Amino acid sequence: MKSAQITGPNEPLKILESNTPRPQQNEVLVKVKAVGVCHSDLHLWEGGYDLGDGQFMKVTDRGVKYPVTPGHEIVGVVDDVGDGVTGFSKGDEVIVYPWIGCGICPACKVGNENLCDAPKSLGVFQDGGYSDYTLVPNYKYLAKLNGVNPETATSLACSGLTAYNAIKKSNQNSPAFLVIIGAGGLGLMGVQIAKAITRAKIICVDLDDQKLDTAKKMGADFILNSKDPDTSQKILSICDNKGADSVVDFVNAPPTAKLGLSVLRKRGNLVLVGLFGGSIEMSLVTIPLKSITIQGAYTGNYNDMVELLELAKKGTINPIISKRYSLDEANTALEDLKARKILGRAVINP
Ligand code: NAD
Ligand code: ZN
Repeated sequence: MKSAQITGPNEPLKILESNTPRPQQNEVLVKVKAVGVCHSDLHLWEGGYDLGDGQFMKVTDRGVKYPVTPGHEIVGVVDDVGDGVTGFSKGDEVIVYPWIGCGICPACKVGNENLCDAPKSLGVFQDGGYSDYTLVPNYKYLAKLNGVNPETATSLACSGLTAYNAIKKSNQNSPAFLVIIGAGGLGLMGVQIAKAITRAKIICVDLDDQKLDTAKKMGADFILNSKDPDTSQKILSICDNKGADSVVDFVNAPPTAKLGLSVLRKRGNLVLVGLFGGSIEMSLVTIPLKSITIQGAYTGNYNDMVELLELAKKGTINPIISKRYSLDEANTALEDLKARKILGRAVINP
């Protein structure tokens, strides 16, 4: 089989030929039809995350071992199954749940493998979908597409899943006004999902007018380009000068986190999702005085993915796939995402 591998930070991806594995026991071999190109693949390629103040968190310190095949938004066709597999057979169109856990920690025990203490996620800690085949460790991580378009389904494994989990968290205080920062792969899914599952007026913020126009088409009630220095003031006036009930920050860098905090009303709820990173100083006393909640959201669990698949089947959400690349073009796909040339999601068709 052929895979595009990251061999080290910022090194061009290498195309590698290797033997196609035969699935054993509960394993399933999936022939990859499409794999989404996520900004997290870029962080993996860059070698880590910006902690602010010149500090950097290396992915190798989190347990990543190079070389690794990236790609965690994997959709394909069952090619071969191990002896223990039931319910799936050759030819089934499937989406792969990539956020695999150890199976024994407290999070895994309640079904939240995405929050595992010792994660084994596909495309991060073990080889993922930038490849013509992926070996899935257990059939319990698969869900049948049942007619959902394979390319649009890729988003349901990460960008849609993460947005779904984050929007559910932002909905805990029944927001009248919800601010979504970042209209990229995750944020545009966030807008659609917020439209479907909350009753909030949606205010979407980005630096790119084309992405904002798309956000409007997807259901945002207000769009604002944060290059405008009055963005914070404009959001406050949209929110009856009280502020937004909830903010979901799909960028989560110093300017966006500061913007989020500045527009949050009393009892407000800030959900941080993006991994752009950095650090900020904040006024501590306003947190208790305004009784603000600040929380993180990290992908979602298997059941969330299945719920999302149902929403996609009904057409309630419709992930945008704007660009397609071959496996040999994996470098270009990542470069284009870095240069902010991708609207919604790009996929690689191995
Ligand atoms: P993307 O590149 O598709 O989109 C990023 C968007 O943010 C773009 O539209 C860009 O214009 C906008 N943006 C960048 N800087 C901005 C700023 N200062 N102000 C306003 N807008 C700004 O990325 P994506 O795939 O949507 O991922 C977004 C982030 O979320 C990445 O850091 C990614 O690694 C992370 N992520 C987190 C999780 C999680 O579970 N928490 C899961 C997947 C991805
Ligand atoms: Zn992702």
